[in-house]
Amino acid sequence: MELRDWQLVLKDKVVKGLKEGLLVALQSPTGSGKTLFSLVSALEVRPKVLFAVRTHNEFYPVYRESKRLGKTFAFVMGKARSCLYAGEGTDPEDIKCSLCDSSSSIFLEENDPPFTVLKELKERGMREKFCPYFSLLNSVSEADVVAVTYPYVFTPWMGESLGLEMSDYVLVVDEAHNLDSLNELAERRLSGQTLDLALREVKSPEAVRILKRLREELNNVVSDEERYLKVENYPKLEKEELKLLEEEYEDRRKEMITNKSIRKLHIGTVLRFYSSDGVVFSHKGSLVVKPLLSTPFISTLNQDIPVILMSGTMQPKDYLVKVLGITRKILYIDVEKELRTKVTGTFDCMLAIDVTSAFSLRSQEMWRKYASYLLRIYYTAKANVLAIFPSYSIMEKVMDHVKVDKFVEGSRTNLEEVMRESKERKIVIAGVARGKLSEGIELTVDGSSVISDVAICGIPYPSFDDYLKLRSREIYKITGQSMRDALMEIPALIAVKQAIGRAIRGKGDHATVWLLDKRFETPWWKMRINCFNPKKVKL
Ligand code: SF4
Repeated sequence: MELRDWQLVLKDKVVKGLKEGLLVALQSPTGSGKTLFSLVSALEVRPKVLFAVRTHNEFYPVYRESKRLGKTFAFVMGKARSCLYAGEGTDPEDIKCSLCDSSSSIFLEENDPPFTVLKELKERGMREKFCPYFSLLNSVSEADVVAVTYPYVFTPWMGESLGLEMSDYVLVVDEAHNLDSLNELAERRLSGQTLDLALREVKSPEAVRILKRLREELNNVVSDEERYLKVENYPKLEKEELKLLEEEYEDRRKEMITNKSIRKLHIGTVLRFYSSDGVVFSHKGSLVVKPLLSTPFISTLNQDIPVILMSGTMQPKDYLVKVLGITRKILYIDVEKELRTKVTGTFDCMLAIDVTSAFSLRSQEMWRKYASYLLRIYYTAKANVLAIFPSYSIMEKVMDHVKVDKFVEGSRTNLEEVMRESKERKIVIAGVARGKLSEGIELTVDGSSVISDVAICGIPYPSFDDYLKLRSREIYKITGQSMRDALMEIPALIAVKQAIGRAIRGKGDHATVWLLDKRFETPWWKMRINCFNPKKVKL
């Protein structure tokens, strides 16, 4: 296997670090060959690799590189995807496997890509009455490389379901900048719509009465604001009421498995909200319960197993320790800094010094200026323009004035539609920071990005709302240090770098990055996004 220059230079250092028990944090841009590099390095340390990715779509590169290395590959897709009887949107916790007559499993040797394997497995499972999910689980222990999504690594009971002898494995965590939001694995939402749908699922008048009361009380405490607002007096359930809803839930689960037709049970969503630990907030029209820290989920990383974290936008080492709670010794490698050279595509920077999304200067006039910039960028761009905003409300106000071909992110954004449109004609793709269009989406043709210009329309600081305030306080209690600035700056930096990364997918990519906020004009920002000498522009 031929390795690239940077891979050859750094492999021994990574292998040595892993052997010495260090956690390796690898910062290297998209398209630089991190997946292959991590597999090659890991397999020099242990015979097997457990590879954790954010979404199922990211299984494919792991499969492809494993095959290139001549290794056997297995993966697990959760019950929601692999159950024979589950419809779209089913919550895996609504599936009652103990009553299923197809729960036996077979052993698989997977040679095809994951989605092909799953499709065939489901067809065969239906014919031969075995369970695809348990068959996938059954097959992981024999494979050299196993790909799973985060919950199988970071929620202990799901990790146990894999039944792996971890002393044989190196754990690789892809897109590890997402560790900052691992607490979202335990986040539960309760909305008016969920309660309306749950009302259609229950049968007893008593359950109907309980849900109607919750519905009414919920209306009084939630707001549509994008900020998290702490809620003290949210609607509660008495023990007896909870028991009654649980009985209804169990009855529906049994009916679904008996009828071999499983769908999402909203009453289950209600119950999970009430059984979750954390602080309760109002957020975008729903009640949300979530833990304040990711620390409990990080515990796997602090165990005595070799770990490689990798990302194109990794948080700084200090943040990994103080905010995320990694207690092990870390070997932090920034590939481009270490080699003093670019290992993927390049970009030029423009800095607008007459606009800002700073709260005190927001106005209709400001949004019109942003729109003028976007039009100017659109007409000069060689290909599509990606415009990233700090919030939905700013995006809507600006994009109202942008009257060219465009795609604006919404709650029903269909990524395939964006991809199709961006390949057919030049458009402005407008999305919010940390949203569907700014992270994880692959807008490429033959490995090259279809985006030529990225416009960062305001610095996407997270709002210092009740959630962030409480989170900051918790971190202070543990570390004795105020991480308030880091909690604002680092997520903003990562969001900006992620957006830029959409335009740089391969070594041949070259983009123009428009920093549309005068607050970018500081050494802190210029250094961290590698825009040392941006060309200043004005309208
Ligand atoms: S096929 Fe049966 S055993 Fe398998 S996940 Fe679905 S309900 Fe459970």
